[in-house]
Amino acid sequence: MYKVVIGLEVHCELKSNSKNFSSARNGFSDMPNTNVSVVDMGMPGILPVVNKEAVRNSLTMALAMHCNIPKYLSFERKNYFYPDLPKGYQITQFKNPIGTNGYMMINVNGEEKKVLIHDTHLEEDTAKMDHYTDYSLLDYNRCGVPLLETVTEPCLNSADEAVAFLEGLRNVFLYTGASYARSDRGQIRCDVNVSLMEEDATELGTRVEMKNINSFSGVREAIITEVARQTEILNRGEKVLQETRRYDENTNETYLMRSKEDAIDYRYFTDPNLPPIEISEKWIDEIRNELPKMPYERYKTYIEYGISVKDANTIVKDKELSDFYEECIKLSDKYLTLSNWLTGDVIKNLNKYDLTIDNSKFSPKMLVDLVNMIDSGKINGKQGKELLEKVIETGKEPMVLAKELGMEQIGDENEIRKIVLSVLNDNMNLVEDYKNGKNVFGFIVGLIMKNTGGKANPAMTSKILKEELDKYL
Ligand code: ADP
Ligand code: MG
Repeated sequence: MYKVVIGLEVHCELKSNSKNFSSARNGFSDMPNTNVSVVDMGMPGILPVVNKEAVRNSLTMALAMHCNIPKYLSFERKNYFYPDLPKGYQITQFKNPIGTNGYMMINVNGEEKKVLIHDTHLEEDTAKMDHYTDYSLLDYNRCGVPLLETVTEPCLNSADEAVAFLEGLRNVFLYTGASYARSDRGQIRCDVNVSLMEEDATELGTRVEMKNINSFSGVREAIITEVARQTEILNRGEKVLQETRRYDENTNETYLMRSKEDAIDYRYFTDPNLPPIEISEKWIDEIRNELPKMPYERYKTYIEYGISVKDANTIVKDKELSDFYEECIKLSDKYLTLSNWLTGDVIKNLNKYDLTIDNSKFSPKMLVDLVNMIDSGKINGKQGKELLEKVIETGKEPMVLAKELGMEQIGDENEIRKIVLSVLNDNMNLVEDYKNGKNVFGFIVGLIMKNTGGKANPAMTSKILKEELDKYL
């Protein structure tokens, strides 16, 4: 058995109105090659301008990952030729990434792990290439879109940990609003570095890099496949070669792309068209103060409330749901009851009516009111479920709806006593039976329920009935 070592380089497109260095729109789903400016096409004489919104989103992410922030923002050119990069170089950050030496806490199957972040840097995306049998199509809409690359230290030790990190990172992008981070749109992509070492070795083994994996399940499969391949090589007594391999999701195999000897020299140098920009302490403080409570912190709090790992994950994975829950627990301390309703019937009914928490009229106060109505005996649990569905369907207040549906339990002691007395008055023969020790209590409760259409609070009814009957003993 060898120890598995993994380091990830995660590229994620940032939200912004325009591109990273040009005024062309940063938009998905548009017609190909419509959001393109002369800057993106690398025309002679063009001058890039840094997009403040993209920098702000990068800073937000860097701070969320507890990184050090440089005093000055600066950019380098990474030179290489490829059709998806008309300038002949990518503007990136090589010397002074926007964030360095950070960390992110994740939970791996319920266990806590600290993932060290080497750096996170702002760069531009390339054009999108679609390859066909004897031609390729290029869409320059993506060329120049702000891209944040986050590089971990080689500190992950299993496919589970790698995927948990990716999920955690995506959540941070979603919670901060820095990116939509949709893998189905290729907005989050990952290079995976894998090596093996003997359990007691002190030096890392030789790594293999697998480039541009689009889905988290692809990352998991790629790691498993590559670990198996390297294990076999080492078991044969051979050495793993440092190389870049392509992972094919269809065949579940990796193929050699290039070896270390073919490594590209990118001739990095500072982009002379982009002078350094000072990042003020004031701006950093402002962004830091606006950071929302992070998914991992929320997860930990939920576990402390006694919520199961599964339910806590369900809530945290969906920011809308988590924000909803956070509002609920400002109004009520029934943490566990609320989370049970939320992860159970609320989700079920939202799906049923094809709604999301945000586009439905269902509010945190409605859920809290409904839970309180059950707890105070106004309605029973079964009615609560029915009522919840109607509340989600109609968006009406639970109290109003319960009245309309004639659901409210009779929970007023005086009212129940009146009904009990009238039922006993009409059935003195049963009172006689009770006095003679016959088992008629349940039957009388049944009569009272019938009398009230099942609305009398059962516990209160039993208590009062016993009080009144015992007066005859
Ligand atoms: P380069 O500068 O050649 O791109 P880096 O040292 O910056 O290489 O590492 C790139 C990525 O590879 C990082 O995510 C890092 O954690 C990972 N990595 C480096 N060495 C190893 C290794 N021996 N095994 C697994 N991953 C590694
Ligand atoms: Mg890179």
